[in-house]
Amino acid sequence: MKIAFYGTKPYDKIWFEPMGKEYGFDIHFIEASCNQETVFMAKGHDAICIFVNDYVNAEMIDALYEMKVKAILLRSAGFNNVDVKAAEDKIVILRVPSYSPESVAEFSMAMLLTVNRMTHKAYNRTRDFNMSLNGLMGMDLYEKTAGVIGTGKIGQAMIKILNGFQMHVICYDPYPVEGLEAEYVSKEELFKTSDIITLHCPLNSDTRHIVNEESIALMKKGVYLVNTSRGALIDTDALIGGMLEGKFGGVGLDVYEEEEGVFYEDRSNDIIVDDNLARLVTFPNVLITSHMGFFTKEAMQAIALTTLENAYALENGLPLVNQVGKEMAQ
Ligand code: NAD
Repeated sequence: MKIAFYGTKPYDKIWFEPMGKEYGFDIHFIEASCNQETVFMAKGHDAICIFVNDYVNAEMIDALYEMKVKAILLRSAGFNNVDVKAAEDKIVILRVPSYSPESVAEFSMAMLLTVNRMTHKAYNRTRDFNMSLNGLMGMDLYEKTAGVIGTGKIGQAMIKILNGFQMHVICYDPYPVEGLEAEYVSKEELFKTSDIITLHCPLNSDTRHIVNEESIALMKKGVYLVNTSRGALIDTDALIGGMLEGKFGGVGLDVYEEEEGVFYEDRSNDIIVDDNLARLVTFPNVLITSHMGFFTKEAMQAIALTTLENAYALENGLPLVNQVGKEMAQ
């Protein structure tokens, strides 16, 4: 199988190059992201392999179909960046539904601890021999209320971590699961009573801007918010409005609504034209990271393995257990 591997970074090759050879695949590593301008590079390949900031819209599906590309191999769990409906009966979409939920949950906790205890500020201060503590005061997490939105694989791993800190954990999910060490409440109650809120639901038509002006108004003053899920779960304008009103104790964002083309790239010499991103960066209690919750050795290895197993199953007519089905399209 010939695979066009879009958005290649050096750390992708570490895993995909040797494993791809073992499977006998011919992987063509392309640095460019997959988008309208670069889709033509898929010509002559059986499949394309893409990540979270690549996209495939309906027009591109038609172009891929014409080029006889049979599959889109997602190196991610989320598939909101592909027009699933347009791909029906044309191109198979395969994803990596699970690859170390702990990697993302642990990173969410790292973000929370950082913005709460201001270790990002303290690190810079002490390097400059500024040993003052002014402005670095945090709060105990012990016995505070943590609200988890989305109790799937990552949400459940996060619930375990939060319980380890002896927090009172509440959660919201339209599809509750039994046996969690957390109490299901309504979305409104979660927004009203949580001292920290952490987002672990997928991006779809129900969850887009789940954090908006209305929900921020319900939140406690001084609330901490962490989003390692998808940027568009938060209405950025509303978040900035809340920040300016002093609503938030701290905010950790591993994802951002308009991250495509910025995250994963070195833009340090560029003029930043996104005023919202530039504004967010100026808040001392906002921590922004570049969509790296997944970025552990264990997760990268698992992503490579499942992606290539998906391709192998397709090539050999085996059951496609990780196919993104019609019922999943939103
Ligand atoms: P999952 O499918 O196991 O769980 C998602 C949960 O969200 C499910 O329980 C589902 O019922 C729930 N949900 C659906 N609609 C909801 C709604 N309207 N309100 C609240 N909950 C809702 O997925 P997961 O593996 O736990 O991943 C969660 C998200 O994390 C992914 O969709 C992806 O966007 C994100 N993610 C981020 C990174 C990163 O590097 N930052 C890595 C992997 C995944």
